[in-house]
Amino acid sequence: MIPYGRQSISQADIDAVVEVLKSDFLTQGPVVPRFEQAVADYCGAQFGVAVNSGTAALHIACLALGVGPGDWVWTSPISFVASANCALYCGAQVDFVDIEPDTGNMCAVELERKLVIAKREGKLPKVVIPVHFAGLPCDMQELHRLGQEYGFRIIEDACHALGARYHGEPTGNGRYSDITVFSFHPVKIITTGEGGMAMTNDPALAKTMRLLRSHGITREPEDFINEPDGPWYYEQQMLGFNYRMTDIQAALGLSQMENLENWIAKRGEIARRYFETLSPERLPRYFSTERRSAFHLYVHHVTPEQRRDIFQKLREHGIGANVHYMPIYKQPWHQTCHAIPQSHADQFYAGAVTLPLFPGLMKQQQGELFNQILTDQS
Ligand SMILES: *Cc1c(COP(=O)(O)O)cnc(C)c1O
Repeated sequence: MIPYGRQSISQADIDAVVEVLKSDFLTQGPVVPRFEQAVADYCGAQFGVAVNSGTAALHIACLALGVGPGDWVWTSPISFVASANCALYCGAQVDFVDIEPDTGNMCAVELERKLVIAKREGKLPKVVIPVHFAGLPCDMQELHRLGQEYGFRIIEDACHALGARYHGEPTGNGRYSDITVFSFHPVKIITTGEGGMAMTNDPALAKTMRLLRSHGITREPEDFINEPDGPWYYEQQMLGFNYRMTDIQAALGLSQMENLENWIAKRGEIARRYFETLSPERLPRYFSTERRSAFHLYVHHVTPEQRRDIFQKLREHGIGANVHYMPIYKQPWHQTCHAIPQSHADQFYAGAVTLPLFPGLMKQQQGELFNQILTDQS
């Protein structure tokens, strides 16, 4: 089965991990800060806080921004459930903003419409979490402008979008948001097995997120609240978690960063062939100077009537088609949230089929795939 996504692991990656295994520190050693610095440098962010998943990064990002009971957090319904769960972990309530029908990204027009109503009702969101769906950056200028006008903070869920660019600048640089979150799950752009990182330019947010990922404990004398009674002293200053990334994981991530640009280029080539063959009308949106997608996913759109059949035939032919995503508000756990009636999200889901896209996908495999899809569709 050709999967919809998979990791690429080189001998250099393996060597980097083995080196840590032979060293003094398996966790809380020197490699995590090096990995954080490498990602921060790549993105043009001041700080990176590495954690053990993208979900953990979303959770500490919400907590650092003060999300709690009584608050509203808005996100995109076409995303992985973690984009909404992070707010629920904090005791906040979640609501969804409909998407742009062509990209699956949060729609800025829809967001504004909803903000006008929420303002009247006194239910404005504290935080909005746009998702760069499939790796294509959202309309961040507009989302940022609305954030200024309506007083909400922004966490970019960039779990699909490490390596993406918006107006020539890397996603993660924080120009239009408070915190940007990446995931390093094996299907994502680079991997650490499990892992994630929260990027920010705000030293106070970085400090809070570092505390939250490790039990709320600090060992920095200049941060102590009380007088230390000896050199063994440390302080727990808030209720944190064990969300730490290991040095084993960080070594893999650091080594993977070497390939990032190369992989984005490869993903772009594969995606371009998909668009050219299957939906050339969508090409300009995905290959513009304004936005460079990281091409985490290629989502093919068919009619809702065709979808089940095409999906099944692809699977029968060993093509690991997938679907991204059923709107989060349709999940049983989330049914107390408001569904969006007649939504673009529902329509998007009804005709979406994710096709294999990863740097190791061969041109010839993709050719066979086209034959299959085009025969199935006709
Ligand atoms: C993968 C993903 C997450 C969660 O990341 P994990 O590292 O698996 O916890 C969150 N949001 C989106 C959009 C994702 O694709």
